[in-house]
Amino acid sequence: MKKRFGKLISVFILILFLFINTRAFAQTDTLTQVSTINALLSGIYDGEMTIGELKQHGDFGLGTFNGLDGEMLVFDGQVYQITSDGVARQPGNNTKTPFASVTYFEADQKFIIQPDTTFPEFEKQMDNLIPTQNIFYAIRIEGVFSKVKTRSVPVQKKPYQPLKEITKDQPTFDFQDIEGTIVGFRCPDFVKGINVPGYHLHFLTGDGKAGGHVLKFMVRKAVAEIDQTSKFFLILPDDVEFYGADLSEDKQADLKQVEK
Ligand code: ZN
Repeated sequence: MKKRFGKLISVFILILFLFINTRAFAQTDTLTQVSTINALLSGIYDGEMTIGELKQHGDFGLGTFNGLDGEMLVFDGQVYQITSDGVARQPGNNTKTPFASVTYFEADQKFIIQPDTTFPEFEKQMDNLIPTQNIFYAIRIEGVFSKVKTRSVPVQKKPYQPLKEITKDQPTFDFQDIEGTIVGFRCPDFVKGINVPGYHLHFLTGDGKAGGHVLKFMVRKAVAEIDQTSKFFLILPDDVEFYGADLSEDKQADLKQVEK
């Protein structure tokens, strides 16, 4: 009787182990995204996904917060909120996001970025290095930068204006000879309307106190790590505003204005 019970327990443990493992497997190399970039461009700035829930989908990524209250950056499982004063804080798990992309970061490739490399030069170098432009890549750059220019966005009150109106007078921040981490993604061209095609990067200073959405940078001494990501999981908002929004329009021109 005792022997049979022991066998039953070990079968149970085996099933539990397989269950946990398949879950972990399902989450790696997956970009999980909340809402769409066109919904954000249209002024849908409130979502239902909490930071606590978002952390269940990854330890690395970027996005924004409800009411467009700053830039989000996630790495090593920690979420940072860089508000319009350029200051980085660690928001509570109940804080919500209307738009975010996260993954579990595991580097597949690592390379040294040459001194004086700029953002457009880095894009070209990485484009030459990657095996295809048709999957997602998570990018982490760690090092010292001779220059980083970032922006953040001011928190909005209803009725919300489209994003391109808000970024017209966005606060920008200039860092010089600064240690820090850049995190972000390279998305394929075919994600138009859903995410940002090409490179989208956010920056956090080494002391964790400042940063923002990256507009420009120049490397002094840095290493880039890339995580090839070929699975994509999209979580669409389950609310009246998203259901009622007209998302049929091509907003690529707006996106270019907002991103750069
Ligand atoms: Zn951004």
